[in-house]
Amino acid sequence: MSRFWSEAVHGLTPYVPGEQPRIAGLIKLNTNECPYAPSLRVLQAIRDAAGEELRLYPDPECTQLRQAIAAHHGLLPEQVFVGNGSDEVLAHAFMALFRQPRPLLMPDVGYSFYPVYARLYGIEARSVALDEQLRLRVQDLLDAGPNGGIVFANPNAPTGIALGLEQIEQLLQGNRDSAVLVDEAYVDFGAQSAVELIERHPQLLVVRTLSKARALAGLRVGYALGQPELIEGLTRVKDSFNSYPLDRLALAGATAAMLDDTWLAHTRSRIIASRDLLSDQLRELGFEVLPSSANFVFARHARLDAAELAAALREQRILVRHFSRPERIRQFLRISIGTESQCEALVQALRGIVQEPAGGDR
Ligand SMILES: *Cc1c(COP(=O)(O)O)cnc(C)c1O
Repeated sequence: MSRFWSEAVHGLTPYVPGEQPRIAGLIKLNTNECPYAPSLRVLQAIRDAAGEELRLYPDPECTQLRQAIAAHHGLLPEQVFVGNGSDEVLAHAFMALFRQPRPLLMPDVGYSFYPVYARLYGIEARSVALDEQLRLRVQDLLDAGPNGGIVFANPNAPTGIALGLEQIEQLLQGNRDSAVLVDEAYVDFGAQSAVELIERHPQLLVVRTLSKARALAGLRVGYALGQPELIEGLTRVKDSFNSYPLDRLALAGATAAMLDDTWLAHTRSRIIASRDLLSDQLRELGFEVLPSSANFVFARHARLDAAELAAALREQRILVRHFSRPERIRQFLRISIGTESQCEALVQALRGIVQEPAGGDR
């Protein structure tokens, strides 16, 4: 606290990101990073960009990157907005689209940055409960009454459960008068993308990141796709905030990444195979594992307390994510899919913990 702070800063409740500790030999399964190195083409492009030209400002319109993204999705560059990580893209979208007289709808269990942005921008947020199986139901969103916008992740975070394209289209058909933001941070791991609905639905904004499936969390690049009118709204906010959110290295690396679909296909199938194997192994150890379309699983043990399990894994230098709120996900752990050997080490560690004779019962 400081008396020099602006009034609004006292009321903020910042997002708390997963830990990034520097512990040697740590198996880090807590922030859904890709366990594999990025494409070599990306690394080469960044090295090539690391030269004399760094004295010059980067392209404020990110033209080449937006062209590469547009080509990848079969859209036009004016349907693409890019930012410093999808978190920044989301923040600008909240500012551009959701400051409305009516409340913003979001699932009660979802990406915990959404309520943080709502607070930052003075947006009233109303949460819509997931069903018993922690699934988002489109009808519940439609029944929630008039709204100033809808935001959710698909697949959802931290559950990993995806909505099908028909369900998203049903939502768009029933909700034509406010913007609908679908955050597709994890879509490459097995969910259907809503991008093809953009041409029929002017209220749809799809947000993507290069952090997860393209292994570039450290480069900080995300983007939004939508009809040019929506994109222009985000650009107005961005140009009132920071003209150069992406530096030259990020532009070069991200453009190369968008052009390397072979790398993406290979990495994605490796992670999906590990996820499906890990899900089966966890079930054998007494976990309930939600059906995941993401690069993580969300699981709870029949007997053992989630916080204690996370602590026991930590003692063995394995980091997973535990959320103490909201209450209904307190007994779950979110476990990012690591390399094949990291998954194996996790299963070994859990075998030891689960089979321990005494203590730890919840
Ligand atoms: C990881 C994540 C993001 C943020 O991605 P960045 O591009 O790294 O900022 C956004 N939404 C969801 C649901 C995520 O899990």
